[in-house]
Amino acid sequence: MIRVLPPEIVAQIAAGEVVGRPASVIKELVENSIDAGAREIRIEVADGGKRMMRVADDGCGIPAAEVELAFQRHATSKLASAEDLNRIATLGFRGEALASIAAVSRVICATRAAEEETGTLIRLEGGEVVSRRPIGRPPGTTVTVEDIFYNVPARRKFLRSSATERRHIDAWITRYAMAYPTLRFALVHDGREVFRSPGTGRMRDVLVAVYGVEVGSALLEIPPEEGATVRVEGFVSPPYFHRADRGEITLFVNGRWVQDARLTYAVIQAYHTLIPTGRYPLAVVMVTLPPEDVDVNVHPAKAEVRFRDGDGVFRAVQRAVRQAVTEEAGVPRMQAISGPAPPAHPPELRFPEAPRGEPVRPTPMPMLVPPVAPAARLPVLRVIGQVAATYIIAEGPDGLYLIDQHAAHERVLYERMMAQRSGGIPVQSLLEPVAVDLPPEWAGLVEAHQETLHRLGVEVEPFGGNTFLIRALPVALTSAHPRDVLTEVAQGLAEEGGEARRQQNGGAAEEEIERAIIRRVCKQGAIKAGQVLSREEMEELLRALERCENPRTCPHGRPTMIHISTAQLAREFQR
Ligand code: ADP
Ligand code: MG
Repeated sequence: MIRVLPPEIVAQIAAGEVVGRPASVIKELVENSIDAGAREIRIEVADGGKRMMRVADDGCGIPAAEVELAFQRHATSKLASAEDLNRIATLGFRGEALASIAAVSRVICATRAAEEETGTLIRLEGGEVVSRRPIGRPPGTTVTVEDIFYNVPARRKFLRSSATERRHIDAWITRYAMAYPTLRFALVHDGREVFRSPGTGRMRDVLVAVYGVEVGSALLEIPPEEGATVRVEGFVSPPYFHRADRGEITLFVNGRWVQDARLTYAVIQAYHTLIPTGRYPLAVVMVTLPPEDVDVNVHPAKAEVRFRDGDGVFRAVQRAVRQAVTEEAGVPRMQAISGPAPPAHPPELRFPEAPRGEPVRPTPMPMLVPPVAPAARLPVLRVIGQVAATYIIAEGPDGLYLIDQHAAHERVLYERMMAQRSGGIPVQSLLEPVAVDLPPEWAGLVEAHQETLHRLGVEVEPFGGNTFLIRALPVALTSAHPRDVLTEVAQGLAEEGGEARRQQNGGAAEEEIERAIIRRVCKQGAIKAGQVLSREEMEELLRALERCENPRTCPHGRPTMIHISTAQLAREFQR
C-alpha cells in the first residue's frame, strides 16, 4: 500500500542528508557563525559530540521574531531569489541545517540580535518547540545540541567511538580555522581546550597552531599573482617533506572546504619529479573566484563544487603550487607530522634521486624558474664524525647537521670553478696524454665543443676516428680518472647540451652548456660516497661549504645536508 509519510519521518529522512554524524552538526553550526560575521567562535564537545555539542559566537544573532523561523526547513536569510543561487557568497543558503539538526536531537538556542535589547532562549525536541523565553545575554548566538539521534535509533547505532567522532570534529575545526585566519576559534573537548587559533589574520599562524612550529614554519607560501581572476593562495610543503597519503591536501573554494579529486591532482602534479611517486605533499590551498563562476549547489553537504572553467582552475592551482615549490631551496629539516614516521620509510626526508645527469628541474612546466634560488648561508659547523663513510655529522648553533660529503664537495667545486671561469681555471697537465675512445655520437659533440672544454680546463684534441687525447684537466680533478672525466663530460653534452639549445639560443645556450660541463666535471672531481675522510678533510670541506653562495644544494639540486634542530631533537625524545 502506498502512503504519504508522516512529516516527522520526512524530516528525519531529510535530516539524514545533512546530519550524518556529530561532526556534520559542528560544521553546519560553525558555518552559521561565520556567516553571522562572528569574530570569535567557541566549540564545546562532550563525548565526541554524542552527548553534547555547543557552538557559541559573537555574530549578528537572530532577531526575537525570527527564532522559530530559523528552525523551519527552507528558512534562510541568505537567499532571496533564484538568481541569488548563481552567486552565493555565504557558506549556508539551503535553510536546512538548523531544521535538520533539530529534527534528530534536543536543541537549545540562546541568541540576541545585535540591534535588540533582549535575547531569546528556545528549546526544541525532535524538531518541536518545547519552550521559549526572553533572556539577557550579549549579542550573538549559542546553539547547544544534546543527545544526537536520540529519536533515530537506527542512526544512533552507527555512531562510532568518541575518539573517532572527535577526530572528525577536529578536522572540521582546523579546516575552518585555516580558511578564516582572522577569526578566533577555540575547541574544547570534555572540558579541556585542545585547539585555539590566534585570529591574527595570518594563515601561517593558524598552520603553526594546527601542525606545530616545526612544520608550520617550514611550509612554503604560494606567491601572489597579480590580476588573476582565479586567485590561489595558501601554503604547501617543501619537496623534502612528504606523506604516505593525500589526506593532508586541504582545498577551499571561496572559503568553503571542498573535496575535489581534480584539484587535489593539480596539487600533486605540481610536485612532479620533486617527490617520489606514491608520496604526497601537505597543502592548504584557497581558491577564490567570482561566485558566478562556481556552482556550490551540487551536494547537500556542499562539499563538492562545479566550476564553469574547470581546466582554468586546474591550471591556476597547479601553476601557483609549482611556483611556491620551485622557489624553495632550503635545508630539509627532519620532520614527522603527527607522530613518528613509519619506520620502513627513511626517505621521508629526502629529495627524490634525480634522473641521472639531469638537474632537478620542473620538467613538465618549462615556463617556470630554475629551482635554485639563493639560499641562506651556513652557520659555523663543528665536525663530530662520519657515518657510513658517506655523511659527515656536525653540530651547529641550532642542532645537528648531516652532510652528504659527495654532494657538499660537488657544490664547493662547482662554485669554485664558476668563480674561476673568467680568470682561467687552474689546470694540471697529465704526465702522459691519455687516449679515450668515445661512441660516435659523443665524439662529434666533444669535437664541436672542444674550445669550450679547453676554456674550462679540459684540454682534449681529436686523435683520429672517435679517439681523443686528453692532455690536461682542471686541478680539482687530479684524483679522478681522465677517461671517466671525458666520458662524463661527453654524456653531459649529449644530455644537457641538446636540451639547452632547444630551449634557448646563442649565448644563453652556450652558457648553459658551460654550466653543464662544469657540473659534470665537479661530479667526477668530488669526493665519493664510501670514502673515509680524516677529521682535517672533513673540517676543510665544511669550511669551504660555509663559504659557498648556495651551500644547501648540490649543483644538481639535491640537498647537501639535513638539519635536525634542537627543538626537533627534544620533541623526538619527548623531553
Ligand atoms: P542557512 O545557513 O542555509 O541559511 P540554517 O538552517 O543553517 O540555514 O540557518 C537558518 C537561518 O538561521 C540562517 O539563514 C540565519 O538567518 C539564522 N542563523 C542560524 N545560525 C545563526 C547564527 N549563529 N547567528 C545568526 N543567525 C543564525
Ligand atoms: Mg547554515
